[in-house]
Parts: sequence; C-alpha cells; structure tokens
Amino acid sequence: MSADDELSLLVIVIDTNPIWWGKKALGEAEQFTLSKCIDAAMVLGNSHLFMNRTNRLAVIASHTQESRFLYPGKRWAFADLFGDGGSSMESNCSGSKDGKYELLTTINDAIAEEIKDLMTKTDMRGQQTETLLAGSLAKALCSNVDINKMSKEVKANQEMKSRILVIKAAEDSALQYMNFMNVIFAAQKQNILIDACVLDSDSGLLQQACDITGGIYLKVPHMPSLLQYLLWVFLPDQEQRSQLVLPPPIHVDYRAACFCHRNLIEIGYVCSVCLSIFCNFSPICSTCETAFKISLPPVMKAKKKKLKLAV
Ligand SMILES: [Zn+2]
Ligand SMILES: [Zn+2]
Repeated sequence: MSADDELSLLVIVIDTNPIWWGKKALGEAEQFTLSKCIDAAMVLGNSHLFMNRTNRLAVIASHTQESRFLYPGKRWAFADLFGDGGSSMESNCSGSKDGKYELLTTINDAIAEEIKDLMTKTDMRGQQTETLLAGSLAKALCSNVDINKMSKEVKANQEMKSRILVIKAAEDSALQYMNFMNVIFAAQKQNILIDACVLDSDSGLLQQACDITGGIYLKVPHMPSLLQYLLWVFLPDQEQRSQLVLPPPIHVDYRAACFCHRNLIEIGYVCSVCLSIFCNFSPICSTCETAFKISLPPVMKAKKKKLKLAV
C-alpha cells in the first residue's frame, strides 16, 4: 500500500479553561499564556499537514461550558478537506503576502477567530469551572467517524490512522470519571491513539487513557518550551516513534473513582452484579438496586473482604 492510500488524522484537543489560564497569566515568573499555547498547537498542526499530502487535522477547544471545533469550523465544509486543489479554499484566501502556504494561513486565521469568539462569549457567572474534557474527547472520536466516512466517499479502500493529542491545563474532574472511561474504551476499540501533553498537575485519567490506547503521556517540565516537546514527542506517528528515543513511560495512577462520592480510591467495595465501585459498604447497590442478603460483616473481617481494584 502506498503512502497516498493512507490518511492520517491528528485531532488536537486544547484545554482552554479560562479560570486556569487566567490564574496562569496573573501569577508566576514564567509567563505562559493561552495564546502562546495555541500558537504552539498551530505550529504542530501545520507541521503535521506538511508531512504528507494525505494528512488531516482537526482542532477542538475544550472549554468550561462547551467543546468547540476550532478547525474545521462552521465555515469549513468537510468536503474542503478532501479536494486535492481545494478550489473552494482558494476563494477564501486573498493570496500569500509573505510566501507562506495559503492553506496554513487560512487554517490559523480560522482557529484564532474561533478562539476569540469562544472567549468573548464565555459567561463567567456560570457555576461550571471544570474543563469538559470527556465531552471534547467524544467529539474528537466523532470527528474521526465523520472524516472516515467522507474519505471513503472520496476514495475507496483508503485506510485511516487517527490519533488524539490532549493539551491539558486544568486539574482532573472526578465527576467526569465514568464518561471519560467510556470514551477511552471507545477509542481503544477503534484503534485510536490518545496522547497527552500535560502542562501543570498530573492527570490520572489521561495516564490511563494513554496507557490503554498506546499513546504517550508527557508532563512538560518547562511550560515555555511546549513547542519543542510537541514537535519532538507528538509530531511523529506511531511507526516513527519506535525509531526515536522518547521520554520513558511513567507510572500510571490506576485508582478508580467511587460511584458514591467520586473520590479516587485504591481499595473499595465492588457490586457483584453491575461492578459499580463504592468506598463504603451499603446493603443496596445504588446503581442497579441489588440487595445483598448478607449480614454486615464484623469490622475485622470486613477488611479481608475488601476487593483489590488493581486492573
Ligand atoms: Zn464514595
Ligand atoms: Zn450494582
């Protein structure tokens, strides 16, 4: 199979949580702003498109109130992505002034416009302060299906390799644990790699996502050098990675969130019917309402009966 028969889709998910980025812009000596982060992501996206004519790109903003496609956005028909000349694209471009490839200029402008629109329309009075990462990943998986469908209509027998790169800023949300795990397993089923580039605090959920799907998890040691890490670690695809000396694999935090309080626990009770996890013993499972007809074991024995959750 020639390289032309293979589509390679890179979906970049950027955490645009305005609260986290707002704090970052205010304090700290090492200044790193959202716009610098987006710039770095754009360079990665442009480089990916340049690597091969058949490479495809999608960029998603993961915000506190919505997940939005920055590219291809509303103004882009998916069909634009597959025309070899891009005839409808040329009408969008006014021509290159600085010798830069017009398609890249158009993509970057579209991304900048969408992110401006997203930020100005954010209602900060809302209670929602967490990034909707699970939803954004679901959107990324759907874009994979969309683009796959489109490409099949354009060319039969075209294979598609997809990967998702999450650039994560804010802390994990245990509330999204269930949705998140469902998305990870869906990605694994579809052979989609999830990579994670974490800017600040480590993310147990993303560590699991990368481990399960075969992606790379990296916590950037020095935020202002984000671009170097993106180009070094995340630009090469799975085959090329085997030839590189990449950062060593990390220890994965496999703790699960209990269904009752969403706390991360290492040892807990598991419902024998629906496999729900609880941190405290309860005679009736709150998920499937199974009643356990056993008398509550004495405290000493209870410890032995606890099931280990190691997966
Ligand atoms: Zn609990
Ligand atoms: Zn149950």
